[in-house]
Amino acid sequence: MGDATVRAASKKGMLERLMAQLQIHQFPTRSDNFGVLIHDPKTEATAAIDAPDAEELLAALHEKGWTLTHILVTHHHHDHTAGNTIVKRMTGCTILGPAKEAGSIPGLDVEVKEGDIVELGGAKGRVIETPGHTKGHVSYFFPEDGIVFVGDTLFSVGCGKLLEGDAKTMWASLKKLMALPPETKLYCGHEYTDKNCQFALTIEPENDALRARASEVAALTEKGEATLPSTIAQELATNPFLRPSSPAIQKRLGMEGRELWEVFGETRKRKDRF
Ligand SMILES: [Zn+2]
Repeated sequence: MGDATVRAASKKGMLERLMAQLQIHQFPTRSDNFGVLIHDPKTEATAAIDAPDAEELLAALHEKGWTLTHILVTHHHHDHTAGNTIVKRMTGCTILGPAKEAGSIPGLDVEVKEGDIVELGGAKGRVIETPGHTKGHVSYFFPEDGIVFVGDTLFSVGCGKLLEGDAKTMWASLKKLMALPPETKLYCGHEYTDKNCQFALTIEPENDALRARASEVAALTEKGEATLPSTIAQELATNPFLRPSSPAIQKRLGMEGRELWEVFGETRKRKDRF
């Protein structure tokens, strides 16, 4: 074994030690939500990202043999918090969620805000405030595991509706997610990817990466398989809401040289009408 090989091997070992090695279990829940469980095998700590449905969440925990310690809430919407009260009563878990929505999240124990570190066993997640879909929406980024949970802010080839924020606010939130390492795995609140691809093709039909993603997604959807997780890199290449700087998109919308948040806002408006 040459020196270079040894160096490469020890570097790989270091990288592996750096990874906190969270185990992830994603499952469909309600009509089109995703439930996600994250588990630290060393400490047995387990968190649910949101609690869309108590019964289905408890069944998923039972199936994995994991004991819930935390719920990390992304935003107050009922289809993300409906299970909070029952799951907390059944498991004694601690519920963390955005301080700015504290009044509308059932069972909230710990309020979190931008830059807070959420500890799950040995893993550390950073809170990123991503308002726009709701006024206090947060995402949870676990840098050592290269994973981000974005709730209803960003979807694969789509983004959340602007229900409590304007285009400028949402664009600022999306830019924070776009700046994460490109290999970061992206877990979202819903499986909307097939419909999103159909819309995206009306905005940027000449995008080869998008066309390839649309075919892949159509095949997965037909088989009833999940199209998530995605990655930041994949979304940067295919998601029209992250691509207002694309000359082809600006030309199609007749918005050449306009502010990126305005181009984003127009794309969002067209999706609302699609
Ligand atoms: Zn929502």
